Amino acid sequence: MSENYKGPTVPKPSELPPPPPCEHRFVHLDTKKKDCYGGGYQTHFVRVDRFFCEKCLEEKVIKKDEYSRDTPEWF
Ligand SMILES: [Zn+2]
Repeated sequence: MSENYKGPTVPKPSELPPPPPCEHRFVHLDTKKKDCYGGGYQTHFVRVDRFFCEKCLEEKVIKKDEYSRDTPEWF
């Protein structure tokens, strides 16, 4: 037994593997829709959906927009 033995080596925080990435679980937060005149016979439809991960609270925004005469089915 060496007198220099100091027990099991404890890894320093910088040597620890990074935490596993969050398995995001996005929950719908809200939806905003607006439509405005887009020129000619077109209407500019815009829809913004917001989600947040219920585990790490990361926010995600999905924006859709389309110039169309008729209301798109996603609107
Ligand atoms: Zn997450």
